[in-house]
Amino acid sequence: MTTNLLDFDLHGLQAFCESLGEKRFRAQQLFRWIHQKGESDFDRMTDLAVGFRHKLKQHAFVRGLETISAHTSSDGTIKWLFSVGHGDAVETVYIPESDRGTLCVSSQAGCAVGCRFCSTGHQGFSRNLTSAEITAQLWMAEHLLRQQLGRTDRVISNVVMMGMGEPLQNYAALIPALKTMLDDHGYGLSRRRVTVSTSGVVPMMDRLGQDCPVALAVSLHAPMDALRDVLVPLNVKYPLVELMQASLRYLDHAPRDFITFEYCMLSGVNDQPEHAQLLIDLIARSGPGGQGLSCKLNLIPFNPFPASGLVRSSADAVQRFAQQLQKAGLVTTVRKTRGDDIDAACGQLAGDVVDRTKLAQRKANQRVIPLQLTPS
Ligand code: SAH
Ligand code: SF4
Repeated sequence: MTTNLLDFDLHGLQAFCESLGEKRFRAQQLFRWIHQKGESDFDRMTDLAVGFRHKLKQHAFVRGLETISAHTSSDGTIKWLFSVGHGDAVETVYIPESDRGTLCVSSQAGCAVGCRFCSTGHQGFSRNLTSAEITAQLWMAEHLLRQQLGRTDRVISNVVMMGMGEPLQNYAALIPALKTMLDDHGYGLSRRRVTVSTSGVVPMMDRLGQDCPVALAVSLHAPMDALRDVLVPLNVKYPLVELMQASLRYLDHAPRDFITFEYCMLSGVNDQPEHAQLLIDLIARSGPGGQGLSCKLNLIPFNPFPASGLVRSSADAVQRFAQQLQKAGLVTTVRKTRGDDIDAACGQLAGDVVDRTKLAQRKANQRVIPLQLTPS
């Protein structure tokens, strides 16, 4: 049996080296070759002992993902479609900005949460990605970009787990990948610059705080349960009161002193002044001792896709909503849409996955969106 070394964080690689009868410290050198230099050929890792290299060739390999396509947007955003085998493909997006380079990484082929406004959710779920498949997205993007741009320094400074899939429903594979991103011998990213975005898998939010506290974004999208149950079906299992309590607990471990709440603006569904007021009230009562919760609001204009049946809020409605929150003292930003011309914007990542769930049945059970405003 041979093993893809992209599957391991440094700790895992040390254990693997030991299993080959090698000293643990050799793993560090190997890890640096793989992640810092992007090397996959053991023969070119010239400062590793010949005997060690020989064992590696017998028992291991370093392999990224097969690229199906790569598209560059007029604003410099790049979207890759990577094959993960058996008819499944996932997407990864690079977003260059003047002061940073952000990579949006996928965690699953498809997603089982099935949010109403998300094109990944509409595709259904095929399978969890392995740690190697999550890490490979960064490994490939970083080293391809360095080559393309003729750079030797780091290109990607930020990672957001906001591609396809719910990262906290693939926890076991997520953690080694995050640790590799953070490791000084790996990508050396700051905890504040690695963000896990979740639709609200409450128990795993607590575990993440313990195991690998990185920045956290919570996809809220509705200020009351009746509406959130429909937009984000996971809310039925973990309702708002539990989600807000878990967000508060996370602050004890978070590398930043706030939680980011994401709110996808859907015309006539969650973008009315009454929704903004309910959101203000929800946050005001969710902090310590019934005080306000320390957070930032990120409003995302809905990126439409044909099957959604939903409409993006007008720019005016988004501005009005943002101003109402700001007046109430909440730090609120409106997300710029990037890579629109190549369908690389938030929620447009559809990849191509084979649904292995009873999606059709779930869709038939989907309730209509209630328009009445009932506080939860
Ligand atoms: N599953 C995780 C992370 C991936 S989705 C989560 O839900 O948080 C990343 C972000 O894109 C989430 O905030 C999600 O709600 C948002 N999103 C999904 N579909 C969208 C769409 N069509 N338009 C705008 N944002 C969308
Ligand atoms: Fe899954 Fe996130 Fe899309 Fe919801 S928004 S279906 S949790 S990827």
